[in-house]
Amino acid sequence: MPSFFDGLPEREPSADNGFAGNRIRRLSEQRNAQSVGSALADADARLYLFRGDKTLIKAGGNPLFAVGEATALGAVATGIVVLLGWADNASNGGGPRLAAAIAETVAIDETRVAFTDLRTLAVTGGVSAEHLGAVAQGRALLNWHMRHRFCANCGAETAIVAGGYRRDCPACGVQHFPRTDPVVIMLAIAGRSDGERVLLGRQPHFAPGMYSCLAGFMEAGETIEDAVRRETHEEAGIRIGRVRYHASQPWPFPSSLMIGCHAEALTSEIARDEQELEDCRWFSRDELRLMLAGTHPDGITAPPPIAIANRLIAAWVER
Ligand SMILES: [Zn+2]
Repeated sequence: MPSFFDGLPEREPSADNGFAGNRIRRLSEQRNAQSVGSALADADARLYLFRGDKTLIKAGGNPLFAVGEATALGAVATGIVVLLGWADNASNGGGPRLAAAIAETVAIDETRVAFTDLRTLAVTGGVSAEHLGAVAQGRALLNWHMRHRFCANCGAETAIVAGGYRRDCPACGVQHFPRTDPVVIMLAIAGRSDGERVLLGRQPHFAPGMYSCLAGFMEAGETIEDAVRRETHEEAGIRIGRVRYHASQPWPFPSSLMIGCHAEALTSEIARDEQELEDCRWFSRDELRLMLAGTHPDGITAPPPIAIANRLIAAWVER
């Protein structure tokens, strides 16, 4: 009997995106006021440590610190400690996994450990995909706590509860939850008699020669499809018809969810938003193959494989 899911790949496209390898068991229904304290008392507990946008990594690429090590580095004393969940199975110890912030004032001897920028870690493969996903989870949560100390409703200082998945206001009783900000990222595809073309643009801060998919934050009251159509029209003047979801990606800069789509271009004349983009044009499949391989004669490149834009382009090129 045919299944509703026939035709879908066994391995979902999201699984190939950077930051998507997180295997922590969150067990969100078990979070309570004692979660962090109980986890820190567990001998198998390990912490990911952060300062700003950077993660502390031991020599050899191990990002996990025992409670004693983290305490010695002043990480527990900051009070910004969250319980991410539990390691996935017995081979990883099965113990609690936490994330904590190290204060800016604590001096770290960087001979055996090093603070590494999260983007660098992702691009260079400095830690395993599993750790990279957990680091993304920890980074997004800690960033939220550091920027949301005070109640947005009444201004009183709020307290971390539920293992770090909520802040409660003691003055007015409002509960505040960590944010995830959805961003649509799309590859617009235009059919032509001499073959399909796709639309890519360049923002001024991109690495020299790199072109990528257009993207933008979703707005209140919008469907994903509406946001794809609006953003493509605003940035490039191209009208979009049908939209097909491809994959998603956690993007911890600081707490986005990238929603990748392929989009049917109904028009081809580009009217670029000159504030957003310094260039925007159509690319052929042959040209994109060279860009993905890094062999384009003009030095034009696609985004690196950790970016969902790379996977959106590759999925179309390889079709
Ligand atoms: Zn309040």
